[in-house]
Amino acid sequence: MIISSIREVIGNTPMLKITQKEYSMPEGSSIYAKLDYLNPGGSIKDRLGLSLIEKALEKRSINQSSTIIEPTAGNTGIGLALAASRYGIKTLFVIPEKFSIEKQQLMKALGAEIIHTPTKDGIVGAIKKAKELHATIPNSYLPSQFDNFDNPLTYYETLGPEIFKDLGPTITSFVAGIGSGGTFAGVSQYLLEKQENIRIIGVEPEGSILNGGPSHGHDIEGIGVEFIPPFLKDIPIDQFFTISDEEGFFYTRQLALNNGLLVGSSSGAAFAAALKEVQQLPPGSTVVTIFPDASDRYLSKNIYL
Ligand code: PMP
Repeated sequence: MIISSIREVIGNTPMLKITQKEYSMPEGSSIYAKLDYLNPGGSIKDRLGLSLIEKALEKRSINQSSTIIEPTAGNTGIGLALAASRYGIKTLFVIPEKFSIEKQQLMKALGAEIIHTPTKDGIVGAIKKAKELHATIPNSYLPSQFDNFDNPLTYYETLGPEIFKDLGPTITSFVAGIGSGGTFAGVSQYLLEKQENIRIIGVEPEGSILNGGPSHGHDIEGIGVEFIPPFLKDIPIDQFFTISDEEGFFYTRQLALNNGLLVGSSSGAAFAAALKEVQQLPPGSTVVTIFPDASDRYLSKNIYL
């Protein structure tokens, strides 16, 4: 396969069928995992970076001398920097200190500048700082993934159709982690338009507030919310699963050992939730989930030791 730009291999990732052989699942049931960690920047957010940059260029919200500013846990920054580097557009990311050093190095490799906010201020602190920078830097643009409806639209336009093309109207449940909520909301909306009886299941780490629990820190990266994402408003959600760090990292290691999947902890948490869902469904059910990023960006956190 010869390509002329790395953007051509963003999306159209494989879907892995996981059956009861390695895990305890009812007879005839399957979990299908969309392997979005195989995108060139190593995560599902390559789709978002590309689409936000291209949409902003189309709308003339940015030009080649703009600076893109965004608060991010890391992967959206990598995706944006990957897409922006092609046009020579500058990127500046605001990141709470706790997020992995590898993600920050990857952003820098792609030409980004990084500003830290204190871990204790959470993503809300990073959002506030990014808004302040946007107000002072001329010709800057804030894609604003947490309230820009182009975020779920990206997944409605790409990931949803890819899943439906592979599986057709055979899906019992769609299970996905929620950070900004863009992936979850966009894919849910698309799939429900094609097949209205799908169960819609959100996944969060302990310390996130979707099941009403108190907000506190967690080691699973990329998912979990401190406020209810606006994109969830019209999505008919059947259930949220709250996954502990221990369980999320346990399944992250199991996926490597049993399936050769070098994925991050949000994938481990999504799989833990997908297993809980498939175990409460009748035999022969089909549960779809997403593995959003690769594990090599967390090795400094000793996730396999
Ligand atoms: N997993 C990982 C590793 C992520 O970086 C993100 C994005 N923060 C998500 C899952 C959740 O994606 P979304 O923001 O679309 O909810």
